[in-house]
Amino acid sequence: MEVCTTKARIRACVASWRGDGRTVMLVPTMGYLHAGHMALVARARVKGARVVASIFVNPTQFGEGEDLATYPRDPQRDLAMLRDAGVDAVFLPEVSEVYDRAAQTIVEPTALARILIGRLRPGHFRGVATIVTKLFNIVQPDGACFGEKDYQQLVVIRTIVRDLDIPVRIIGVPTEREPDGLAMSSRNVRLGAADRAAAPVLNTALTEAEALARRGATASRLRAHVRARLAVEPRADVQSVDIRDAETLAPVSGPLARAAVLLLAVRFGSVLLIDNRVVHPATKEPT
Ligand code: AMP
Repeated sequence: MEVCTTKARIRACVASWRGDGRTVMLVPTMGYLHAGHMALVARARVKGARVVASIFVNPTQFGEGEDLATYPRDPQRDLAMLRDAGVDAVFLPEVSEVYDRAAQTIVEPTALARILIGRLRPGHFRGVATIVTKLFNIVQPDGACFGEKDYQQLVVIRTIVRDLDIPVRIIGVPTEREPDGLAMSSRNVRLGAADRAAAPVLNTALTEAEALARRGATASRLRAHVRARLAVEPRADVQSVDIRDAETLAPVSGPLARAAVLLLAVRFGSVLLIDNRVVHPATKEPT
C-alpha cells in the first residue's frame, strides 16, 4: 500500500494504474476509521478496481466553535486497517498541501446546502462540496463511495457531480451499525457512558417509524412518532426531525406516495449525532 502525502505522488500512482487499464475507486474519509468506512472500502474493491482511500480532516467543513480541534485522529491505526483491507493507496495530505493560501475558488451548492444539516451547520456543505470536488480532481477516480449515514451529503455530492458534469460514478453504501443499533461514527468515542447507553434511541425511533410507514402512516404521523419516541430519552437534545423525499430532499406531507427519508440530528452533551432511514409507502394488497 502506497502512502502518498502529496498530490503529485497520488496522481503518479493513479496514472500508472490507468496505464495498466485498471478502474480506480476513491473512498474519502476523515480518518479514525470504523466498520462503516471499511464497508465503503469493501464496496470499492469489487471487480478488480484499484482503491484509493483518503484521510483528511477537512477544516473548511467545520464551523466556528465546532469540533475540528477535538476531532478524533489515529492515522497509524487507520493505515493498518486500510492495509489489512487491501487498499492500494492512501492519500494522507497536510492541510497546506490541499489548500493554497491564495485560493479564491469554492464550490457552493445552493438550496440543497441550506436546508436540514445546512441550517444547523451553515457553510458545512460548501466545505464538503469544495473538498470532494478537489479530491475528484486530484485523484481522478472512475467512481467514489459515500455512506448513506450522511444522507444529505450523499444527495449534495450526487447533485454536484450532475451539475458540474464531473465524470465520477457515485455509489451510496448502507449504514453500518453497532450491535445495539447505534450508527457507527468516529464521533461516538466522544460520548460519555450514559449518553452512549442512551444513543441507540435514534435507531429505535427510526425502526418504529419504518414499520408505521409500511402500515400507511402519513408523513406528519411518522415525524410525530419519532419526536415522541426521542422525547422519552431525557439525554437526547433533539435538533431536528425531518421527513423528505428520498431522492430530492423536497418536503413531503400526507400519505407517502413514494420513498421518503426520515432525518434526525440529536445532541448528546456536546456531540451531534445524525441518523436517517428511508421509509416506503404501504404496499397495496394484491387484488
Ligand atoms: P467521515 O470519516 O465521517 O467523513 O466519513 C467518511 C465516509 O464514511 C462518508 O462517506 C460517510 O458517509 C461514511 N460513513 C460514516 N459512517 C458510516 C457508517 N456508519 N456506515 C456507512 N458509512 C459510513
